[in-house]
Amino acid sequence: MKNWDAIIIGGGIIGLSAGYYLAKKGKRILLLEKRELGAGSTSRCIGGIRQQFSTPGSIKLAMKSVELFSRMEEEFGFSVEFAQTGYLFLVFTEEQKRKFIRVMELQRSLGLEVYYLDRREVEELVPGINSQGLLGGVYSPRDGQAYPFAVLKGMAEGISGKGLVKRRTRVVEILSHGGEVKGVLTSNGEKFYSPLVINAAGPWAGEVARMAGLELPLEPERHEAFISTRLPYRKIPMIVDYRTDGGYFQQRLNGQIIGCYTPRPRVPGPREDSSFEFLKEMSYRVVRVIPWLKEGLVLRQWAGAYTMTPDGSPIVDETDLKGFYVAAGMSGHGFMFGPAVGWALAEKITEGRWPLPMEEFSLRREFASEEALK
Ligand SMILES: Cc1cc2nc3c(=O)[nH]c(=O)nc-3n(C[C@H](O)[C@H](O)[C@H](O)COP(=O)(O)OP(=O)(O)OC[C@H]3O[C@@H](n4cnc5c(N)ncnc54)[C@H](O)[C@@H]3O)c2cc1C
Repeated sequence: MKNWDAIIIGGGIIGLSAGYYLAKKGKRILLLEKRELGAGSTSRCIGGIRQQFSTPGSIKLAMKSVELFSRMEEEFGFSVEFAQTGYLFLVFTEEQKRKFIRVMELQRSLGLEVYYLDRREVEELVPGINSQGLLGGVYSPRDGQAYPFAVLKGMAEGISGKGLVKRRTRVVEILSHGGEVKGVLTSNGEKFYSPLVINAAGPWAGEVARMAGLELPLEPERHEAFISTRLPYRKIPMIVDYRTDGGYFQQRLNGQIIGCYTPRPRVPGPREDSSFEFLKEMSYRVVRVIPWLKEGLVLRQWAGAYTMTPDGSPIVDETDLKGFYVAAGMSGHGFMFGPAVGWALAEKITEGRWPLPMEEFSLRREFASEEALK
């Protein structure tokens, strides 16, 4: 079939989610993925889901995602290992404490359950934590985790039947006429037609936009991660340590520790090669925060891309080419934002208006402010 209600470029969480929620609305979807589903950033993420952001748009988007994650087991018929195991931001300075408390007030006003814990409460929440120099922490018990591969599988199955997911098919050209998108050309020389094309190409979204003559402020950069052998399950929430030599890690439900840190200086990407330095550093950083984790061994390490925008918030919008949408620039939050981004796109496309305030994600914004909890 050559004509579709919508064509989606990219089989990561964003493209699959848009396809899944559009298919639920009865739309016939063609999703094109140049490699395998999840092969870009999504299969490389550590599965963290948080709602603690510093702007109303991001908080609401993440809260909507949590609602959607919580329905997946029922919708898909299998578990996506969604669990509200919490996120704990460690606080080491008075300045950090003031900033977190200010943001917490906004989060609470939007209905998020979030607390400031003093040092003793943090010690109770995370047995064995090294609390030297620690003032406290900001904790939301409603944040958590899910298993990316299971989420992708459920969404892909939801599209199949009502649409087509075509793997190993690269889009090489965006077809347009008179200022409107008309379809795509693939590397196999096939043309597919639709008045709606969604660029969900993750780290390659800039490259895909250029096929339509558009420049987007997107910069992929390399982020590395590792996973440990199984350790006794002690409900370690996602620990976010914002010190310059900090990191973030959590315990999966099977006991494994999975984590990463933000490299300084940044390593421009997309790159998927991993380094020995990360292996050494990450092990040190994890054990410094929770010393008993030295009992674990690193099972595997890998790398993938965060796709950054100048202000750290995504771009989810229709471009100047009518019918050509972009949903990219997810930074380190694409997995957690994914369900809500796909759902919001499906609502906008079928109902004609955004179901959530999306101005913060507009392509035409100033990009002047910055997400404080990047
Ligand atoms: C180490 C690490 C840890 C992370 N941890 C978290 C976390 O805990 N929580 C969280 O929310 N996020 C996390 N992220 C970020 C998250 O992985 C991304 O934001 C998210 O996966 C982006 O999804 P996407 O669908 O936009 O991109 P992708 O998953 O990269 O999907 C884009 C797809 O488009 C395909 N594509 C590109 N060009 C073309 C073309 N021309 N034709 C056809 N297909 C094309 C690619 O092959 C790719 O599969 C992490 C990322 C990394 C690297």
